Amino acid sequence: MARVGLGLAVGCAVVTCAIAAALVSRSVRRRWRWGQAVALVRELEVACDTPVGRLRQVVDAMAVEMHAGLASDGGSKLKMLLTFIDNLPDGTEEGTYYALDLGGTNFRVLRVQLGGKGSMILSHKVESQPIPQELMTGTSEELFTFIASILKRFVQSENDGFQQLPDDRKDLGFTFSFPVKQLSISSGVLIKWTKGFSIEDAVGKDIAQCLNEAMTKIGLNMRVAALVNDTVGTLALGHYNDEDTVAAVIIGTGTNACYLERTDAIIKCQGLLTNSGAMVVNMEWGNFWSSHLPRTSYDIALDDESPNRNEQGFEKMISGMYLGDIVRRVLYRMAEESDIFLDPAKNLSVPFILRTPLMANMHEDDSPDLTEVGRVLEEHLKISRVPLKVRRLVVRVCDIVTRRASRLAAAGIVGMLKKTGRDGSGGVASGRTRGKPRRTVVVVEGGLYIGYTMFKQYLNEAIGEILGDEVAPYVLLKVSEDGSGIGAALLAAVYSSNR
Ligand code: ADP
Ligand code: MG
Repeated sequence: MARVGLGLAVGCAVVTCAIAAALVSRSVRRRWRWGQAVALVRELEVACDTPVGRLRQVVDAMAVEMHAGLASDGGSKLKMLLTFIDNLPDGTEEGTYYALDLGGTNFRVLRVQLGGKGSMILSHKVESQPIPQELMTGTSEELFTFIASILKRFVQSENDGFQQLPDDRKDLGFTFSFPVKQLSISSGVLIKWTKGFSIEDAVGKDIAQCLNEAMTKIGLNMRVAALVNDTVGTLALGHYNDEDTVAAVIIGTGTNACYLERTDAIIKCQGLLTNSGAMVVNMEWGNFWSSHLPRTSYDIALDDESPNRNEQGFEKMISGMYLGDIVRRVLYRMAEESDIFLDPAKNLSVPFILRTPLMANMHEDDSPDLTEVGRVLEEHLKISRVPLKVRRLVVRVCDIVTRRASRLAAAGIVGMLKKTGRDGSGGVASGRTRGKPRRTVVVVEGGLYIGYTMFKQYLNEAIGEILGDEVAPYVLLKVSEDGSGIGAALLAAVYSSNR
């Protein structure tokens, strides 16, 4: 009996030891793997670091590339497209103007009533419509006839019993946010479609003329007075409200900027320019690139797998289309190389499953146990039971990615200021001498900037850091909403043939 008892005791001890050993080894492994996850985040933090010295290098690179893009076509990844807008609205415009804003899945028609000096915008009305899917890949005639008829209905609904006199031609501002080679203020050729549109017979055609013909065909006596993109429309409204506005930046699904440049600095097209002093230049800055941009393996993979490899490099680090997916890539690697997520995190392998607004929700979750982070992980990524310390790590990843994006956007903005001698550095680029900084306003539009508080906060902080205490108070960033459409109507007023 005693031997059996002893045997049992030894057996139990062995089993206990084995279990204990297994537990210890699992816990060691777990701890090691947790350490691995933390190490990945630290590595990311270092790779995405944007100290002010690095931001200044990006500022300089932006200014240099702007120069190169203005010097010759193809001189830089920045296209620096001419807009032929040499006159921005200043508040003296009067009358009723219409605008059409096409640049994504929705398009909008607007009517803006202007009261002349001192009275600013009296009223405006907007109507939004989705573009039917089949029209996005049909013929240009179908698309423009559709748009023109919606516009006609809108004009008529505004004015019951609307009877347009034959000589009462109305001016239209057309915001068309696709790459266009502008030929004049009111004409421009479509270079290519983006954002899911593919109407092959429109490529190479004058977009304003396509719309003019469609309007004539359905008996709408209107004419495109200004063909612009969304950044230019935004700048126009900004300038209408505040004449110190010199640049506009869009940070939404994509990113772009335009600014007011001296015509003598636009070397590549001197023959085309009137001697008006200044012209709005559409930078197409999403395509900016510099070796000073802090690039990680995640950015490289995202670019490699994108349909436009080696293009839009700046945009891929900054804009709403991509930030969520950078975070997803980091979390996916963490899931693969550590076991911080108890559930299999298969959904993390799906590209673009984590949209940027969800990332923002996680980042800005201020509940003590990060409930929102848990909800997004569970509902959108099907990862449940995520411990608090792992949720905290997820928030840190969001913070790193957004901080880098917003600080780089800030460097881009200061780059534009530097190029135009408004950054307080003495205007090396523009040949100006050091003097008292001038009040400078930059208008910013886009869902990412407007909707993501941390992004906006980091961006504004970085502008202050780069410019320093002396100059920063002279530079104002103003939020603009609905600028792209209203601004086009204002430009129609400025360039109206009836004026
Ligand atoms: P678009 O750029 O297509 O004209 P918006 O300027 O409205 O449209 O920007 C929409 C984009 O902004 C979304 O695709 C998303 O990436 C981003 N966004 C919108 N709201 C938020 C938010 N609350 N937090 C973070 N990103 C947002
Ligand atoms: Mg937009």
